[in-house]
Amino acid sequence: MSVTSVDFMAIGAHPDDIELGCGGTLLRLAALGKRGVLVDMTDASMGTRGTPEIRAREAKAAAKVLKADRVNLGLPDGRLADGWEAQKRLIDQIRLYRPKVVITHHWREEHPDHETTSRIVKQAVYKAGLAKLDCAGTPHRPGRLFYFVGVELHEPSFCVDITPYWDAKLKAVLCYKSQFHNPDAREYKGKTDLASPAFMEFLSVRNRFWGSRIKRRYAEAFVSNELPEVHDLTAMGGERFA
Ligand SMILES: [Zn+2]
Repeated sequence: MSVTSVDFMAIGAHPDDIELGCGGTLLRLAALGKRGVLVDMTDASMGTRGTPEIRAREAKAAAKVLKADRVNLGLPDGRLADGWEAQKRLIDQIRLYRPKVVITHHWREEHPDHETTSRIVKQAVYKAGLAKLDCAGTPHRPGRLFYFVGVELHEPSFCVDITPYWDAKLKAVLCYKSQFHNPDAREYKGKTDLASPAFMEFLSVRNRFWGSRIKRRYAEAFVSNELPEVHDLTAMGGERFA
């Protein structure tokens, strides 16, 4: 099977990580006419609330909001390990979709699966370009790897204004009815941080904080190990608060 090259590939450990970490940025990319694919490493079978089947349905609905394809690699949740098996599954997807840009978790995160995902992605993005690799498909190395800033505080390389897409980001996040606070979904049992009403406030505060750093209402923050190449110094923000 071959797929034409996409502009971006966003990769998360569990279905809902992409939405929380960079959903607004992906909506902005979609508005620019960019095509992308979302890759979930695991089916979140260790999640306290819901089941993998429910999570898969929710992930499909969220991908519709984000206007992107979605793939699940089916790696074991809670036992995710950086090794050839995981790298190979991701390399297959990178060679199939041939993204220009890859976005994933920062390598230092609260959840160990997030850190492991970040390490697997780093390996796969580079190795997918090796001609002699024992993998199917034509070699392809994405041009840029960006890490979204999640729960842990990291100094970002840049922020993306997501103010016009904040409501749509929330809509994508709330597709995960089994995970987040929802007074109408009492069938999902189990106490988790995510399901606490305080979590949505926390998410809002996090994106408002990054927004305040670029004088916008909401933003998402990213780390890049490469220097961003700039073409127009007059198009780098810097407007005053509205
Ligand atoms: Zn996660």
